[in-house]
Amino acid sequence: MPEAPKSSLKQKNEEALKFIESVTENSDEVQKRVLGEILAANAHVEYLQRHGLNGHTDRETFKKIMPVITYDNIHPDINRIANGDTSQILCSKPISEFLTSSGTSGGERKLMPTIEEELERRSLLYSLLMPVMSQYVPELEKGKGMYFLFIKSEAKTPGGLVARPVLTSYYKSSHFKQRPYDPYTNYTSPNETILCPDSYQSMYSQLLCGLCQNKEVLRVGAVFASGFIRAIRFLEKHWPILCKDIEFGTLNPQITDPSVRESVLKILKPDPKLACFIATECGKKSWQGIITRLWPNTKYVDVIVTGTMSQYIPTLDYYSNGLPLVCTMYASSECYFGVNLNPMCKPSEVSYTLIPTMCYFEFLPVNRNNGVNSDSVSVPESLNEKEQQQLVDLVDVKLGQEYELVVTTYAGLYRYRVGDVLRVAGFKNKAPQFNFICRKNVVLSIDSDKTDEVELQNAVKYAVTHLVPFDATVAEYTSYADTLTVPGHYVLFWELSLNGSTPIPPSVFEDCCLAIEESLNSVYRQGRVSDKSIGPLEIKIVEAGTFDKLMDYAISLGASINQYKTPRCVKFAPIVELLNSRVVSNYFSPKCPKWAPGHKQWCNNHD
Ligand code: AMP
Repeated sequence: MPEAPKSSLKQKNEEALKFIESVTENSDEVQKRVLGEILAANAHVEYLQRHGLNGHTDRETFKKIMPVITYDNIHPDINRIANGDTSQILCSKPISEFLTSSGTSGGERKLMPTIEEELERRSLLYSLLMPVMSQYVPELEKGKGMYFLFIKSEAKTPGGLVARPVLTSYYKSSHFKQRPYDPYTNYTSPNETILCPDSYQSMYSQLLCGLCQNKEVLRVGAVFASGFIRAIRFLEKHWPILCKDIEFGTLNPQITDPSVRESVLKILKPDPKLACFIATECGKKSWQGIITRLWPNTKYVDVIVTGTMSQYIPTLDYYSNGLPLVCTMYASSECYFGVNLNPMCKPSEVSYTLIPTMCYFEFLPVNRNNGVNSDSVSVPESLNEKEQQQLVDLVDVKLGQEYELVVTTYAGLYRYRVGDVLRVAGFKNKAPQFNFICRKNVVLSIDSDKTDEVELQNAVKYAVTHLVPFDATVAEYTSYADTLTVPGHYVLFWELSLNGSTPIPPSVFEDCCLAIEESLNSVYRQGRVSDKSIGPLEIKIVEAGTFDKLMDYAISLGASINQYKTPRCVKFAPIVELLNSRVVSNYFSPKCPKWAPGHKQWCNNHD
């Protein structure tokens, strides 16, 4: 491919930065225009008419009339669209597909409507990332990015709309596949390897291509930290066969996808010297710094390590010898939100500047109970009128205050609560910059799975029925996301109350593990079955009295004895240690839970 002329690259970068300057300088005007555009285009849709907006496009009327909602409020509308109703229910433009969120409702992925033009908005956000990055790391255009990118399975709704994750939709779009040559989207992975539906073949071929172009790689990454660590783990397991393919310039017969083979063989040349080098490095006992050893020109690791992904920072630091960990953007299936304008900052200081052209943003103030054991957030599930009045606009948020993000999108979500809690960390011109604090209610997460307290509670309740024949119950429990194993896995600590005299065989506890997994949501089960991004769930039985000790400990740290409640998830290392020190036995789920693409109520979900 011809190299892009330097001047045009510089010009493109400058234009992108100018765009950021301009929309952040004029945030309020842009937001007003965005809302006006959305409401004018959708003035006649059923949802806005139902609420009596009556064609108004101004903020004041919109805020007065339209309710602040969650997914459950529009679930019936979404179901109608999914079942084939093509009338203008939420949006005047045709719904092109559903984006399946990793957030769930009733155990199934939420379905976010989207329209064709949203792809352009997403592409615009992507186009801002490298111009920002190049301000801090020069000459990235001189080499390649080794990114591990994957598609996931898709399903069809009963009405025939495709339902798939937003990134799968993006990678399969012409915006990605037919992107014009740009040194900043020059990846070591050919498109065919990214688009391969078989996760083994996709990972293998992407690693192979990354290894054989190792000197050209200037940055490495994946979307989330968990995905990048999975790639390293894959390398740990498969480096001998990868080296063999590099040595001989061949592709082993396990890689059967013809388009993957063709694209990889175009890159692969026999390179015994490189194969020997990789084998020597991978054969060393310590894998500390393996990234910088195998890809010596790497300047940073591009992965999201904010939110629950921060649990992977120590592992990433170990493998990359402390290379900068760069979080570039903040996005969701509902809408892409913003970019990090200071990407070389420490992970703990990352803040995202919301780009005012993406959607209309509002912010619901929240109060967080920042206890030792929990990051619990107190935000009411449904808002009364007074609470609805508390929402503020993008330019009106206050430094240091935490808010729940509420969006109105071009694709038909109106005052929709995303469920993320953000804190104002500063301002870029008039646009606020936010630290990502947490996703509301999520207690456990390994990859993109999000398990809340209610789901956990129901799963445990369901599982303990296996103990009934033994006259045993679970007196107390808590949980922990163990990310030291790769892939990480959920651990439940159980303190039993035993009344019967028959000992409980290990197989019963294993059944309990599986029963919990079966009742967790479909994103969790997909992670176990299809993505293999989550390991088997573990139950650890702790000695009697352990949870009393836990309470004593929390009280010694200042918790109030009257208000103390057993945390349903623990993160604080000394507490995890305390629990682990009193484990008497442990059990793992013996097999994967059931999972199939699509919602369980759709019958054509194996397309
Ligand atoms: P999904 O709906 O599956 O696309 O997931 C979107 C969610 O992932 C967001 O609402 C956040 O909770 C989380 N997320 C996305 N980007 C980031 C980020 N940069 N840092 C932390 N969490 C993120």
